[in-house]
Amino acid sequence: MSLRFQAINNLTKDAAAPAESNARITDLFGDNVFTLKTARQFLSDEGYKSLVHSIKEGKKIDRAVAGQIANGIRAWAETKGVTHFTHWFQPLTGLTAEKHDSFFTLKSDGTALEEFDGAALIQQEPDASSFPSGGLRATFEARGYTGWDPSSPAFIMETGEGKTLCIPTIFVSYTGESLDYKAPLLKALEALNKAAVDVCHYFDRNVSKVTATLGWEQEYFVIDAGLANARPDLVLSGRTVFGAGPARGQQLEDHYFGSIPERVYAFMRDFENESYKLGIPLKTRHNEVAPSQFEVAPIFEEVNIAVDHNILLMDIMTRVAKRHGLVVLLHEKPFAGINGNGKHNNWSMATDTGVNLLGPGRTPKNNLMFLTFFVNTIKAVHDYADLLRASIASAPNDHRLGANEAPPAIISVFVGQYLAKVLADIESKVGDKFDEQDEAVLKLDLHRSIPELLLDNTDRNRTSPFAFTGNKFEFRAVGSSANCASPMTVLNVVMAETLKGFKKDVDALIEKGDKKEVAILHVIRKYITESKSVLFEGDGYSEEWEKEAHRRKLPNVKTTPLALDAMVTEKAKALYEHNGVYTHSELEARHEIELEKYIKKVQIEARIIGDLALNHIIPSAVKYQHVLASNIKSLKEAGLSESEYASQLRILKEISGHITVIDTKVEEMVEKRKIANNMTNTRTKAIAYQSEVKDPYFDEIRYHVDKLEQLVDDQFWTLPKYREMLFLR
Ligand code: ADP
Ligand code: MG
Repeated sequence: MSLRFQAINNLTKDAAAPAESNARITDLFGDNVFTLKTARQFLSDEGYKSLVHSIKEGKKIDRAVAGQIANGIRAWAETKGVTHFTHWFQPLTGLTAEKHDSFFTLKSDGTALEEFDGAALIQQEPDASSFPSGGLRATFEARGYTGWDPSSPAFIMETGEGKTLCIPTIFVSYTGESLDYKAPLLKALEALNKAAVDVCHYFDRNVSKVTATLGWEQEYFVIDAGLANARPDLVLSGRTVFGAGPARGQQLEDHYFGSIPERVYAFMRDFENESYKLGIPLKTRHNEVAPSQFEVAPIFEEVNIAVDHNILLMDIMTRVAKRHGLVVLLHEKPFAGINGNGKHNNWSMATDTGVNLLGPGRTPKNNLMFLTFFVNTIKAVHDYADLLRASIASAPNDHRLGANEAPPAIISVFVGQYLAKVLADIESKVGDKFDEQDEAVLKLDLHRSIPELLLDNTDRNRTSPFAFTGNKFEFRAVGSSANCASPMTVLNVVMAETLKGFKKDVDALIEKGDKKEVAILHVIRKYITESKSVLFEGDGYSEEWEKEAHRRKLPNVKTTPLALDAMVTEKAKALYEHNGVYTHSELEARHEIELEKYIKKVQIEARIIGDLALNHIIPSAVKYQHVLASNIKSLKEAGLSESEYASQLRILKEISGHITVIDTKVEEMVEKRKIANNMTNTRTKAIAYQSEVKDPYFDEIRYHVDKLEQLVDDQFWTLPKYREMLFLR
């Protein structure tokens, strides 16, 4: 019996695994995290103060104190039965990496000890040779090190294998170039902090720190593990490369906010509890539009922590699903013909005085502060749309962007009719001297009007890649499997750069004798004029928008290899250098790594397509042809005329036709792959993979395979079908 039928049989036997615990969230929350509260308990005064100082101000911790902190962390971890620790980091493969060491050591005199010293907390040297470096680190000199990031707390990961103390770290080469997602993110956040504090001082001298905030919304599919395991494409690439649409897709739209199936519900409860223990503040769960699609979202947090939590959550979900006989699909487009997975990044900035900088104000002064950050964001997105596009570019996300379900590859900003009008008013009414009209603009009751007016527009604004949603912007084009650090690094650094320019412009006017408010309003007006072409309120999925965007000269790059070009323009290099985020060589290396990732993903899919076509599809089709052919033969022998077995003959021929196309196209594709593989320039090779391998062959081969699926006897078909994966649980 094929794996497909085994899986279907087993499915009916699998009872829903019960949810693990009914504990209250508040009892679990942060139980496995070395929080400041825990630190207070396990650290000396000196250690505690130093840790707090380091978290709040980003100051380095000296080695001696680090020793005390390490001891405290170990003592805490041991009360929880932990024997091993690891530096936990985010290499550019997009996964997380760990290398476990035990606390156990032998001293020179042979005494056995449990130990975790300051040096082991601060720095480790994992073998870096197998992580991507884009040529930064020649493989013979495979040295990179991980460095403790005190701003993200240590935590204990519980897996089937045991409990491990995880220390969040950055990962850098021996010569100091960053090799991970976290190091540049921290630098970008610091750049934003500085630039935003400076601008805040126009309004409030008491602000001493600005943190960027992130609340992500993670979409995913959950399907039966037996069925998933019978699909080599899902196992190897996370996506079904073939599969005819089921008779019922998402047209009923009855899944969205419907009740959650029992087995999935048990899984959710279980992964939520694990997440709570790790301090991930999950808040919402619901069904998504497509069958078997769901979403989970937390309460927003400081960006660095939120990024760590998202990566952790993806890991936990994948692991916990196994316990329930399920598989989580985080790929951007696991199934053709129904919605894919995204990960909205809700983003804002908050001051240490408790103000959300994208929260509309109640008073004229607050209004001006809100308008300042609001308009600077629009300008940042306008000026660096290409970089934002590059930050979300990946082989899997190419299936989504612009595919009429997700935002287009054109980056535009939705602000809602009301704010669009406010911006237009400022642009047209603000005069050269500060007068009553300007006063009126500032006295608008933004606070009360915005939420109401946004509600009216929710339907339309779902098509926007970057939308203002009342008190935050929502970057919606991010892919579900992405590390949020990539878009967050770009967004925060472009915001930092824009705010620095803003300060310069305002100061110049003040220098010339303008009153502060007048200067600010004038620069805001100028920025509105310069960046209004990025504002778009209409249907982002429509063809007219594509034409309109072209007229407005907005970039619209549909494929990853070309979208990535934006990373290494002179403009990008200058931006990153000014803000201390990437050196030129780091940038070149990252560009190279992203291209390589693209090539590998397309290459793997091309191989899977070839394999499945030759080892699953054609053999099944041939088997059925044989049945048809012998049927025709016996009907003929029994004396029936051709018209009486015409249908069998037609199907037989049709199958032959599809087999021929599949076989020829697979062979051609393999040839094209060989040509691409011989290319030495990574960019050219990535473009070849996209335009010579993927575009001309993937869909074409799929078309014929899916036709066969509809012709061949169901009994012979070895790959689980869409209806089974999406509707059976
Ligand atoms: P929706 O977008 O579906 O209307 P919400 O507005 O409740 O849902 O929020 C979606 C996400 O945005 C949540 O993760 C929430 O925590 C986050 N969010 C809310 N306010 C902010 C903020 N100031 N900064 C960052 N994220 C925020
Ligand atoms: Mg949302």
